[in-house]
Amino acid sequence: VASPVYVLRVENEMPPERLAARLPALCEAAGLDGVFQSGDLVAVKLHLGEKPNTGYLRPPLVKVFADALKNGGSRPFLTDTCTLYNGRRQNAVDYLNTAREHGFTPEAAGAPVVIADGLVGGDQVMVDIPGRHYGQVPIAIAARRAHAGLVLTHCTGHMGSGYGGGIKNVGMGLASRAGKLMQHSDAKPSVNREKCTTCGLCATWCPAAAIAIDNKAHISHEKCIGCGECHSVCRYNAIKWTWGATSQLLQEKMVEHVMGVVEGRREKWAFVNFAVNITKNCDCLGKVEPRECPDVGVLAGRDLVAVETATLDLIDRAAGNRLFSRLWPQTDHRLQVRYAADLGLGSMEYELVEVK
Ligand code: SF4
Ligand code: SF4
Repeated sequence: VASPVYVLRVENEMPPERLAARLPALCEAAGLDGVFQSGDLVAVKLHLGEKPNTGYLRPPLVKVFADALKNGGSRPFLTDTCTLYNGRRQNAVDYLNTAREHGFTPEAAGAPVVIADGLVGGDQVMVDIPGRHYGQVPIAIAARRAHAGLVLTHCTGHMGSGYGGGIKNVGMGLASRAGKLMQHSDAKPSVNREKCTTCGLCATWCPAAAIAIDNKAHISHEKCIGCGECHSVCRYNAIKWTWGATSQLLQEKMVEHVMGVVEGRREKWAFVNFAVNITKNCDCLGKVEPRECPDVGVLAGRDLVAVETATLDLIDRAAGNRLFSRLWPQTDHRLQVRYAADLGLGSMEYELVEVK
């Protein structure tokens, strides 16, 4: 059965305020008010920005959704989890300060911020799921205690999964620290000694103290948790990473954590993908990256698999090629979508409804 996916087309590089003015029509067309009941505590999941990356969704865009929820009588809160790596979001205090610096105040963004997995990423509930890798996954407590969820995703490429969209935003982004470790456990990098300049940046960011710098950087595979940060921060392309089988495992495990988030209440979640400002890497990367294709639009629906499939199709059409296959040729980035469909999380068939 084809699931409806609502799409609001946008002009290239549209300013956030102009885009915000058009979003209420999308909320209405997609029937978001039918998902959330009066009194519901609604987890609005988004990435609140890693410095100095500027790809995150801006507060005026988020406020449109928060206001729509409040007008319907529900109680939204903006939420994300602590990161594994040593950035500005590794614990709730640093993250809340970063969010405020990015303008995510209740006045500007329409709702308060609650870090979903507590002070240092350990506040979780174990959720039983019928997965192939896991029968139970650890999910950030606020994501499960909320009555409902609205997922706002800025879609980008991603080093590990090729594409980082709604599935990654939920599966990685609402897993507790333990859940993130489970998803990353299969990947291990190594150092190209010819290219390493011993600048030491990778060792500074490594959350597992797995990198020693002597005459070159050296990675201890015993300590490494496979988070990928060293690869992201190295400016000299000196960290080698062979994805392939490990990307498949990462994507499948990510999908199983999505199951953990929505299990037992799928009808209470809705998904909005912003296919704009599409970069090679995700917004966790600590630098600003160029656009890889013209902006597409904003897609919304209640079926995550359908929203993700439509997003990828429209991005490929705008790019004139299979964009994420070109950016990450070793990775089969649509595997996550197929696996989610296989596990019954939604349908890859969709009917596109244009929103004026
Ligand atoms: S960041 Fe790159 S160049 Fe710098 S020490 Fe690490 S591997 Fe070497
Ligand atoms: S060495 Fe391992 S744990 Fe450290 S940053 Fe790289 S991938 Fe992450």
